[in-house]
Amino acid sequence: MECLKGKSVYKGIALGKISVLKKSDYVVKRTKVESAEEEIERVNQAKEAACNQLQKLYEKALKEVGEASAAIFEVHQMMLDDADFNEAIENIIRTQEVNAEYAVASVGDSFSEMFASMDDDYMRARAADIKDISERLVKNLVGGETDSMDFEEPVIVVADDLTPSETVQMDKDKILAFVTVHGSTNSHTAILARMMNIPALIGVDMNLEALKSGMEAVVDGFTGEMILEPTEEVKCTALTKISEEEEKRNLLLELKGKENVTLGGKKIELYANIGSVSDVGYVLENDAGGIGLFRSEFLYIGRNDLPSEEEQFQAYKQVAQNMAGKKVIIRTLDIGADKQADYLDLGEEENPALGYRAIRICLSQPEIFKTQLRAIFRASTYGNISIMYPMITSVEEVKKIQKIVAEVKKELYECDIPYKDVEEGVMIETPAAVMISDELAELVDFFSIGTNDLTQYTLAIDRQNEKLDPFYNPHHKAVLKMIQMVVDNSHKAGKWTGICGELGADLELTETFVRMGVDELSVAPSMVLKLRKIIREMK
Ligand code: PEP
Ligand code: MG
Repeated sequence: MECLKGKSVYKGIALGKISVLKKSDYVVKRTKVESAEEEIERVNQAKEAACNQLQKLYEKALKEVGEASAAIFEVHQMMLDDADFNEAIENIIRTQEVNAEYAVASVGDSFSEMFASMDDDYMRARAADIKDISERLVKNLVGGETDSMDFEEPVIVVADDLTPSETVQMDKDKILAFVTVHGSTNSHTAILARMMNIPALIGVDMNLEALKSGMEAVVDGFTGEMILEPTEEVKCTALTKISEEEEKRNLLLELKGKENVTLGGKKIELYANIGSVSDVGYVLENDAGGIGLFRSEFLYIGRNDLPSEEEQFQAYKQVAQNMAGKKVIIRTLDIGADKQADYLDLGEEENPALGYRAIRICLSQPEIFKTQLRAIFRASTYGNISIMYPMITSVEEVKKIQKIVAEVKKELYECDIPYKDVEEGVMIETPAAVMISDELAELVDFFSIGTNDLTQYTLAIDRQNEKLDPFYNPHHKAVLKMIQMVVDNSHKAGKWTGICGELGADLELTETFVRMGVDELSVAPSMVLKLRKIIREMK
């Protein structure tokens, strides 16, 4: 038994087998194929792409580290054309009628083992190169969308780190817990873990090489521990805790259907945050009054191209229909920073959190924005949709948005496509937006405070930087004062304000927010009933 310590981002207990994800490890599945020739053609295309990638790496290395070190990429290019290597791949595809990924991976494994067992030092060292090129080929074949996250049975996912797109691609029913070496409490991966209602630990100091998939473990989100190969006694305690948690949860379920009202009669809306159409199930299960934040960018990541208007329309329509008249606030594309989509080619940035993201992309690439707006407006007739715009810093931005929205509506009208005039709000997640919230309030229907980014920009703390977690203090007076200012400015203009950042679910602050006059809290679905309990017990 071994006990590893980390930082919990969602309190819960899990007991099960671990599945270790190593970044370069694409879990390649063996599938039967109809046409061997098509698979061989795929290998050729992957090789061509690999050759170009290696050429670029060679040129970069030549400039930065000189010819001797850059030569390795030339060697890799030559290896790609190695007759034995290629013949072996083709043989496997033809004789076993299997997919290209599988053939490349298995030839890569056997060739690298063969080199590793040679006497000659130079030849032995080539084992790593063979592995490298076969991994590159597999990566090219799989493209951005690996199915390495497909698990046969529910597992505890153990990884170095997980990107939002990796997390979002996982089948949520197959995950018992997340445990990572890196990651920060406020990253979108942590947010997704909370959304999925599963225990998650970050910052766990573990050697992934020493861990084997299939090992048993207990993940305790209350103590921040992962216990590997637990004794029968530890497993028993974990099972007891799991059933206690279940019992508490059942007690909370008694609050379903009840109002979010204090003993003094003050009401507040409790909505939920979602990232995909399938999350609506959690929203309904936890009796949220609506969706206060639909992070629409998750429709854009983990794929190779932009989602079409039709695809988006279907998603928004389905959410609106499933929510049956309850409010659904769709946040327009907030891509950039940690949420990347390679196909958008956003480029490397020194400070991505202060960079080209969210509304800045939408205003400078209006076609992308308009496609999304058209899809949202088309879906508006199927339920109670509102729109909100992220990362606002100025009145001018809102005016530009309004102009684009007017164009979209005009186009729909001219094409006889029905739509409704929906409520439109802005996210308040920059200090600039706070300071001009009196002016913004005149232009929009509501505010939703994004405390994750507001804290990041107010305290000058990169929310992705795990080293800064101890300094990331969303209870900071500056943040709380800003929230009060925004609420007051919205009320003066007869508008309402909600909080959709993670702070909205901070049970220590629920009373404070109600007393401040916050009108709505939008939180992870699993937090709705916990908040309702506190509100109903408030004087
Ligand atoms: C926020 O910044 O608080 C927010 C809700 O947006 P996101 O976490 O998606 O950036
Ligand atoms: Mg934000």
